Parts: sequence; structure tokens; C-alpha cells
Amino acid sequence: MIIHLKSSIGLNEAQEIAHRLQAILIEKEEIVLVSPSKLQELPSDLFAKVSSFTAVPNDIQLASRLYKKETREIKFSNFSIGGESNSTLMITGPCSVETEEQIETAAKFCVEQGVKVLRAGCYKPRTSPYSFQGLGKEGLLLLDKMRTKYGLQIITEVRDASHVEEVIEYADIVQIGAKAMYDQGILRRCGKANKPILLKRGFGSTLQEFVQAAEFILSGGNDQVILCERGIRTFETGTRFTLDLCGVAFLKEKTNLPIILDPSHAMGYAYGVADLTRACVAMGVEGVLIESHPRPKEAWSDAAQQLNFEEFAALQASLKALANAVGRVMV
Ligand code: PEP
Ligand code: MN
Repeated sequence: MIIHLKSSIGLNEAQEIAHRLQAILIEKEEIVLVSPSKLQELPSDLFAKVSSFTAVPNDIQLASRLYKKETREIKFSNFSIGGESNSTLMITGPCSVETEEQIETAAKFCVEQGVKVLRAGCYKPRTSPYSFQGLGKEGLLLLDKMRTKYGLQIITEVRDASHVEEVIEYADIVQIGAKAMYDQGILRRCGKANKPILLKRGFGSTLQEFVQAAEFILSGGNDQVILCERGIRTFETGTRFTLDLCGVAFLKEKTNLPIILDPSHAMGYAYGVADLTRACVAMGVEGVLIESHPRPKEAWSDAAQQLNFEEFAALQASLKALANAVGRVMV
């Protein structure tokens, strides 16, 4: 149950109530308590102390449309997603920051294409310890340079809790990767950050587990959470993962969080990415995240799935009309 306390209730009393209800206390403009969802009826002595309350059927709580009907708005310097905006955000860039020349070419390409958010990883959660692990801090500094030089917003990922502070400092949007979705240290720290967090779905996690991971961030006090479906593991091996668009319909229906889809990691091969992206945009979501690279064949990670600039430009040109057809605007 989510309980908004009246402003006349002080912190000490709120803490006592939280303790009694085994609730998490979130202190913002108002004090909000979130108790386990099994609490379905507000104890009668609390009626006079509460300004509103919402009982939800399971632990999709702060993320639930039963609590907040509208999709949450996330504001950036010159655009926003969610809320009333109807915008579908394009995010692109290489899988990893490799060299200054490579990331600068990618940044210039974003500007040329009207893309406002550049993606690239510096701490890569690779499946093998012998693969390129990312440039670390050096990569973050290069991204910082691109932000200043080209006026782009930066999204980059956190792999583990050892560098979460650095990534929060340098990123405009912090990406929590699929393999880190269950990392409580990262989730809890991001709950205290004042930055939007893009949380990717673990490829073996259910939708309930995915949204509950988002609840860790929300209940920490950070309400800027974006969900990212990036493909789940099924019996199919012909493609890298399986993009769960049914799951996207579920998330749209049940949650109030903006949704950004990542068809690149789902497909794993460049040939399918453009068609999948169009399917994603047609779902009426808040954004798409596409890997692109100046020379995909030479990429230091995820070489097979990154679009070259010609392929990306053709895709980008096809999206405006598609977004308009579902009542949205590409930004
Ligand atoms: C990435 O975005 O490059 C990445 C590693 O994604 P994921 O965590 O979805 O595998
Ligand atoms: Mn990648």
C-alpha cells in the first residue's frame, strides 16, 4: 500500500507509522510510505493522518498505473519523454567508446541526424573476461568532452557497484545493464541519484521481477526510471535474444514508467534491426536505443549488430511518419 501522509505529520511520527507497517519511508515534498502490498486495508486510526492511499494487488506499487495513471514525465534540457509529451526519443551510438576519433565521429553523426542522446559504454559487462572490457574512466571523460562540444546528452552504463559514483557523475542518463538488473547495490545507489535511470530487463527475468527491480530505485526516492526491454532468452538460437513485445504491451498497460526499447541487443544482427525498430516505434513507446558505429565490422564489442551510418540514416528517415501514425513525434 502506498500512503501519502498529511503535511501536519512530522518525520518522527511518520517513522513510527512506517515501523509499525513495515513500510519504506520516502521523504520528498510529502512523506510517502510504501508498505508490503499484502496490506490491503488502511488501519482505521490512520485515516486522520493520511491525505491519500492506494492499495495495489502485488509489489508493482510505485510503478503501477493504479497509483499514478499517467506515464511519468522525465525532463531533459530541451525535451521530455512521458507525461503529456507524446515523444519517442531516438538514442544511438556505438556499443563501446573505443577511441576519441571513433566517438567523435559518432557524436558528429548524431548532430547531423538530429539525435539528441549519444550512447556508448565505458564499463562493459562482457560474457568473457578476455573480451574488451571498456575504457573505464578514460571513456567517461571522452563522453564528457562530446557532451560539451556537441551539446548531446549522454547515456552510459554501470556494470557493477565499484564505479557507480563515476557513472552517475558523468552520465545524463545512467544505464543499468541487463546483467546488472538484480544488483541491489547499484539499484539502491541509483535510488538516491538525481538522474534518470534506464533499467534494462535481465534476459532471464520475468516482467514482475523486472518491475520490482525498478521499485528498488523508485522507493529509494528517485522517480526518474525508464524501463528498457532488450530481449529475453528463449529456446530460439537463430537470433541473439527474443524481443518481448507482448511484455512491452504488459508494461504499457500496467506501469506508469516510460519505456525505451533496444532492438539491437535483442536481434544481435544488423539485418533485422531496422524492421524491429519500426515495430518498436509502432508500439507507441517513449524511445528506442539503437547501436550504430562508423565502421561496425571493426567494432570492439557487438560488431554484428551495429548499424553503419548509411543504414542508420535510412532507418531514421523512415521513423517520423511511423511515429506520427501512432500519435507520436520523434525527438
Ligand atoms: C549495451 O547496451 O551495450 C549492453 C551491454 O546491453 P545489455 O545490458 O542489454 O546487454
Ligand atoms: Mn552492446
